Amino acid sequence: MSTFGAAAIPALELGEPLATREATAEGDVVLSVRDLCVSFPSDEGRVRAVSNLSYDARLGRTLAIVGESGSGKSVSSMSVLGLHNPDRTFMSGSILLEGEEIVGAPQERLQRLRSAKVAMVFQDPQSSLHPFYRIGNQIAEAYRAHHPVSRSLAAARAVEMLDLVGIPNPQRRARSYPHEFSGGMRQRAMIALALVNNPKLLIADEPTTALDVTVQAQILDLLKELQREFGSAVVLITHDLAVVAEVSDDILVMYAGRAVERGSARDVLADPLHPYTWGLVQSLPSASEQLEHLRAVRGVPPSLVHLPTGCSFHPRCDFRDQVPGNACVTDLPELLPAPGSVARLTRCHLPDPRGSLRGQALR
Ligand code: SF4
Repeated sequence: MSTFGAAAIPALELGEPLATREATAEGDVVLSVRDLCVSFPSDEGRVRAVSNLSYDARLGRTLAIVGESGSGKSVSSMSVLGLHNPDRTFMSGSILLEGEEIVGAPQERLQRLRSAKVAMVFQDPQSSLHPFYRIGNQIAEAYRAHHPVSRSLAAARAVEMLDLVGIPNPQRRARSYPHEFSGGMRQRAMIALALVNNPKLLIADEPTTALDVTVQAQILDLLKELQREFGSAVVLITHDLAVVAEVSDDILVMYAGRAVERGSARDVLADPLHPYTWGLVQSLPSASEQLEHLRAVRGVPPSLVHLPTGCSFHPRCDFRDQVPGNACVTDLPELLPAPGSVARLTRCHLPDPRGSLRGQALR
């Protein structure tokens, strides 16, 4: 695998430098999502997949969006790419990608933004790479879609990208078809395809779920290294807190289409303030723990067609008796700064979440 220093990237003459950013710096907001609501019809009724979601993604930082299946994490990021069916999906709120509004933008505009400014790595590279085209050609064509260069220059760029993501003998492997790659190599090729146009935002949706554990670790290391090199903002969609701990700077926890907790990854994992996040952290095995001592979050996520009243988590929450009155069942809590931590936001009626959760953990 190549090193990522500029000197190790001989094909910089091909076009824009891989690792430079003009007019933006680490920490700058690339993506700003505000009050996003996404819903669509189904046989059972309207599915409220995302409700009033707000967050920022910043250059050089990885934001993990965490939650169980059906929490809205993938739908919200598909919306950022405009990958929803505009005839069946109702969207409101705002998604600004470098100041450009995505909500309501025409498909032609969205198509141009995809890959030029934002790219996505999916869970299953097998279904994202075209089985009939050579890997190198697919990467080269993605490059030519946004750069007026010859086929040979684009092919050289594809080889450069395969080298960058650690594919051995990239010149030869560029001529391979996807079925000739292992799962880990296909995911590396997908990452090369996603990054070939140097997007400012990379959305990685469960990028390691389909891989075995050792390959998972390699892909996570690769994502970390590439982010350092490219300086992109990364939004990582995952249900796996171990993955979050490995690579993320910030965390947004989603439940039933809403953000329930937000903060730096270090703080949220060490000291969760929402009972749902607390449950997820408690269910993580540690090296010293026996599996029978693990606590799972009881129950199942609610239907997004028939959301519970009040706090959506109340049917599964072991702490609702600590909230005065029946507020958990009747009133939707707001996402507010936690007591004593302005940088942490949580959506819970508990008057002293730290005290309640720590008390339960000691039992
Ligand atoms: Fe639990 Fe009530 Fe907090 Fe919801 S608002 S997480 S039900 S304590």
